[in-house]
Formats: sequence, C-alpha cells, structure tokens
Amino acid sequence: DEHGAKVGVMHGCGHDIHMSSFIGTAEQLITHKNKWKGTLMMVAQPAEEVGGGAKAMLNEGLFSKYAKPDHVIALHVSASVPAGKVTMKNEYTMASVDSVDINIKGKGGHGAYPHTTIDPVVIAARTVLALQTITSRELSPLEPSVITVGSIHGGSKHNVISDEVKLQLTLRSYNPDVRNAQIAAIKRITAGIAQSAGLDESDYPAVIVHEDESIPSTYNNPSQTNIVRSAIKNAIGDTNVLETQAVMAGEDFGLYGRTDENIPITLFWLGGVNQKQYARAIKNNETLPSLHSSKFAPDYKVALPTGIKAMSNAAVALFNTK
Ligand SMILES: [Zn+2]
Ligand SMILES: [Zn+2]
Repeated sequence: DEHGAKVGVMHGCGHDIHMSSFIGTAEQLITHKNKWKGTLMMVAQPAEEVGGGAKAMLNEGLFSKYAKPDHVIALHVSASVPAGKVTMKNEYTMASVDSVDINIKGKGGHGAYPHTTIDPVVIAARTVLALQTITSRELSPLEPSVITVGSIHGGSKHNVISDEVKLQLTLRSYNPDVRNAQIAAIKRITAGIAQSAGLDESDYPAVIVHEDESIPSTYNNPSQTNIVRSAIKNAIGDTNVLETQAVMAGEDFGLYGRTDENIPITLFWLGGVNQKQYARAIKNNETLPSLHSSKFAPDYKVALPTGIKAMSNAAVALFNTK
C-alpha cells in the first residue's frame, strides 16, 4: 500500500468487470463507427475506492486539457442484481460522503475526584446521543440523512479521567443543503454541550471536516438517463432493465456532474450475481454477499456482454442525440 505495508488484494468491488466492459465498449464503438459521429472520450479513472481518482483527474484538467464532453456515463457492478440485468434511477442515485472528526476536550484527573475534573467521556456520551437528533428532529423527514459515529476513543485506565475523547463520523445525504446543515448542527451541538459542561470557549471541541475526502452525491440527469434507459432496453430487452432505489453509499463519479461545465451524468448498475445463486437466495431468504465481500464473484460470462451491450448502445444513443 502507499505506506509500504504488504497487503493482500482482491477484486472486491468488481472493478475488473468495469475495466473489461470499458475495453469491450471501446472495441464495439470502434467496430461500429458508422453508427455514430463525434469524439469518444474514455476515462480510465483510478482510485475510485478511496474517492480520490475523479477529483485528481478533474484537478489535472480532464475537461480543459482534453475535451469538454456533452455527456458522461458510467456503470458499476451490483452485488444485489442478477447478471443479465441493468438497473438505474433518475435524479439522486448515490449519497454524498463526508468524514468528520470531533476532538472533545475536558480536564482530566483522578476517577475518584470527578468534581475536580471536566470529564470528556461524559461530554462524549451526551454528544453522541445529541447528534442523533440532527437527522430525527432538525432535518426534514423527506430528505435522506445519515450521521453515524463509527469510532469513539478516550481514556486509558479505570480510575483516570482523561483529557480528551475522539469521535469519528461518517455523514451521508443527497441534498448539499442537508450536508451543510448536518455540519453546522454538529458544530453548534458540540459547542453547546461543551459550554454546558463548564468548558471555556477555547476548549470547545474541534470539529474537523476532511474536505479532501468529501464526495458529493451522484445525481443522474433525468432527460439523459431516460435516453440511456431506452437505449439499453432496446439492446438487452425491456424486462432486463429495472428501476432501482437510491443508496446511501457514495461514488466519486458524481463529481463529473458537479464542475462549472455542468455536464449531465448517468451512472447505472450492472447486475453481477449468478442467476441461479440469485434465485436460491431469494427462495431461501438468504443475504447475498455484498460488494467488498471476499465471497462476491461476478458472473462475468453473463455480466460482461450485458455491460458491453448496455454501455455501447447508451453511448451510440447519446452520440445521436442533439
Ligand atoms: Zn467499492
Ligand atoms: Zn466501486
């Protein structure tokens, strides 16, 4: 890895299916060049897993040094859709992702003399519960929002009140206004609880938003997505193209639609699950291995031709729109 540690690797998110579909699509579009006119731009983006690839390519001038596309499309393999099928959704399809740290300060001391301290563990406990009210009480129930405290660390010994507790959060939403409201509420609530505990303003918790790791939500442009959907229906059959629900997972592909160029984007899901395995799971009410599971293995013999057909026909349809 980037720190020099030896790590095992796996194709846990199906990115080998993406790259094989990518090459197959390029091949099809070149073979059938009589069917379309324009400039085909293939974006071989790295580092989707760490959410850094799209950002890096855009910062390096993807749309200015090369060409400004009229349409941007992508597929991602799905671990919950049978191979041979494609699913998609207009408008918001994947969530924005933010990583936030909250460093809560206190005044440490002896566990037997709590009155001489300001206990950051108690402040952290209040904070974790108070944060639950942002989604449930402050934001509209009609706007998706997730605030998860995934990590809490503080203290080292039974009888010692520590100086600090650290929280790590993940935030999810679709609407950028919701994201901003989440962050503003976290800052307000953490400061308010620190004040109520008797801390000076200089010791209010530090709320750190890791802007470099932020990913915006993925918004499928409806009119472009309608063109993509009907082209794929023509290519693989009406019954093989299904509507899907949005998920709170994130994807850095959404960034291509959020530049000043304001380019319409569409991300669709390519079914990856073996059809028999899928039928068995439904019948026995079993959970299928998710993306990132070591047990997830796309049925490439069916998924790959479906992906190539879907992607190349969607591209041809968009080339012929205007
Ligand atoms: Zn992944
Ligand atoms: Zn992925």
